[in-house]
Amino acid sequence: MGFPLRQVSQHGVSRRSVAVRRAALSCAVALAMTGVGGVYAPVGQAAPLSGPSAPAAAPSKIEGFAPYRWQTSCDPVAKPGTRALAEMMLAHYGAGRSGGITRGCSIGGRSEHKEGRAWDWMLNVSKPAEKAVAEQFIDWLTAPGGKGKDAYNARRLGVMYVIWNGKIWSASREGKGWQPYRGPNPHTDHIHVSLSWSGAMRETSFWTGERGDVKRSCMAKPCKKPRDRTSVEFPADAPPDGAEGGYDD
Ligand SMILES: [Zn+2]
Repeated sequence: MGFPLRQVSQHGVSRRSVAVRRAALSCAVALAMTGVGGVYAPVGQAAPLSGPSAPAAAPSKIEGFAPYRWQTSCDPVAKPGTRALAEMMLAHYGAGRSGGITRGCSIGGRSEHKEGRAWDWMLNVSKPAEKAVAEQFIDWLTAPGGKGKDAYNARRLGVMYVIWNGKIWSASREGKGWQPYRGPNPHTDHIHVSLSWSGAMRETSFWTGERGDVKRSCMAKPCKKPRDRTSVEFPADAPPDGAEGGYDD
């Protein structure tokens, strides 16, 4: 199933401009690789859109779409993959600032911030330069990549969902593209990124070159106990639309 590029274009680029940009970028990257190296130098392949290159080359089979594994524990410590993602984006785009990774467990409702696997990137939709960066990042994250694989970088990073400007993109609902976000905070002053456990632990192919287990439901296997579906406040298959519900950051 193809990712609805029409949805992506709401955030800035059309199908045609993606193709043009990809072609132009592959030339630019080829030139850049002859001399100038960046902090995140290309390894094995060029990034398809304006975004950082993965530190590790992709395996032949990359991760699938991360299912929604909501917060089930209290461990507000920034996890290495979440930290690496934040540092990489701030370094690459040079825009906005970090709004933080962790959140006290008694503050607000369910949130992956309380497990250190969500990041808020402060970019304001009312500032054109910051809005443009947000759209570039989102396009880079959700665009097809090698061999036309959908949401290539989101999958390699183990992204569960992204909230921005009143909309949410969920890996677990990838076929639906961007949907209205109904939480109390419209996310017009920051992008929220939630990661799977393997993404948060920096154990996905973007970082390691090996396919990560994005279905994992705990920090490290073996999980101490299976996910208890009866103890959660949302129905078992609830969408993550309200994942940050009740908290205004
Ligand atoms: Zn957040």
